[in-house]
Amino acid sequence: NEPAMDAISKEDLLDKDRKYVWHHITPHNDNPMVVVSGEGSWIKDVDGNRYLDGMSGLWCVNVGHGREEIAEAAAKQMKTIAYSTLIQSHVPAIKLAEKLNEWLEGEYRVFFSNSGSDANEVAFKIARQYHHQNGKPSKHKFISRHRAYHGSSLGSLGATGQAQRKLKYEPLAAGFTHVPPPYCYRCPFGQQEGACRMQCAEAFEDAITWEGADSVAGVIMEPVITGGGMLVPPDGYMKRVQEICNKHDVLLIVDEVICGFGRSGRKFGHHNFGAKPDIVTMAKGMTSAYSPLSATAVSAWLYDSFKDTSKADSHLRHVNTFGGNPVSCAVALANLAILEREELVSRSAWIGEQFRERLQPLAAHPHVGDIRHFGSALGIELVEDKQSKRPAEASLVASYIASCKRLGLIIGKNGDTVPGFANVLTISPPLSSTDEDVAFIVDTLLEAFSIRAEDEG
Ligand code: PMP
Repeated sequence: NEPAMDAISKEDLLDKDRKYVWHHITPHNDNPMVVVSGEGSWIKDVDGNRYLDGMSGLWCVNVGHGREEIAEAAAKQMKTIAYSTLIQSHVPAIKLAEKLNEWLEGEYRVFFSNSGSDANEVAFKIARQYHHQNGKPSKHKFISRHRAYHGSSLGSLGATGQAQRKLKYEPLAAGFTHVPPPYCYRCPFGQQEGACRMQCAEAFEDAITWEGADSVAGVIMEPVITGGGMLVPPDGYMKRVQEICNKHDVLLIVDEVICGFGRSGRKFGHHNFGAKPDIVTMAKGMTSAYSPLSATAVSAWLYDSFKDTSKADSHLRHVNTFGGNPVSCAVALANLAILEREELVSRSAWIGEQFRERLQPLAAHPHVGDIRHFGSALGIELVEDKQSKRPAEASLVASYIASCKRLGLIIGKNGDTVPGFANVLTISPPLSSTDEDVAFIVDTLLEAFSIRAEDEG
């Protein structure tokens, strides 16, 4: 599946890239990696170098690269009908909405969009309108958490809890407030793990009280904060937040954009915590990023207030041209069929167990402060020294990423958060990774760290 590289030289490509392409969230690099093909967990660049795609792109290529049956499903749908709106309906959307209900293990009405950011925007609008038409129009605010990432549009960025992503774009959408995250390694409340009153969950009660319950429409949270540093909550956290939400008639919106579709070792991240969200947003792994698609799944009881014909104007005033595109829905169906047939959800749990067992030696490394797991997603928090827990400097973090890349493994780090706090290495490989791929990731990480240890003498 090599592209037609013969038509254009590498130098030409790079010249044109430098001239025309605006890269995402990065200072322009004059020598970017230009990816040309992929197979399984591996990608190849324009120089012919192979790398294990240890981040599945951006936490999204759950079934791995080069799946012909997905390409065939897309081509077949394009030939049948490539576009139809969801003002009417179409066959792939109907089949996919039904399939998502199976995956969600609940009864949900599904609104399709294009991206994770879109899906969250739709959730906010639905939550506000729901309260509006249920006699509580002043309920409009959302509570999120510091370090959370919920997207790049002005509302989803408002929900995001990372200053560096927001500062130059303010004012964002109004009505978002944040509480400290569950972060046991550096508890924002100064407590010890396992011996606390879970103030991180109670913080929602405080925020609702002080904002005024009559003004709060919803809480938005990922099951585990992924891009903000792989922050795994203590047992009972999500259930407690749900109780608090129920008590105050606040909707619980769970952002499953990364944690969904098997990443957590269960179908959805919240399945690990016994929570029943009112609204679930999803994107990335739904199509394994073979085509853009996202969804906002809304509990059936909540949807009921949008079809109440006794109330004039109760429908949702939201449309997007590409949302639920038939080709993307067909791609999602083919992707979910692979996840099911190859049992990749349990494979993800297995990958996570391998990481847990085989990466234990890393814990003793002087720069490793904490290792955190959620299914096959892994975070390694780097510190300058274990005693002070001072977050590792950017150059140290970059050196580990570069060591892994030199050895053929692409890994990530938690975004561009508060300066000095982008110190968590992230690994989130395709769920289809073979035994050899998993061994390669483990061996490479161990080698990258011992290379550092030797470097430092
Ligand atoms: N929510 C979460 C948890 C995410 O990680 C992301 C993207 N990384 C988004 C929302 C936004 O998704 P998108 O980039 O598709 O807009």
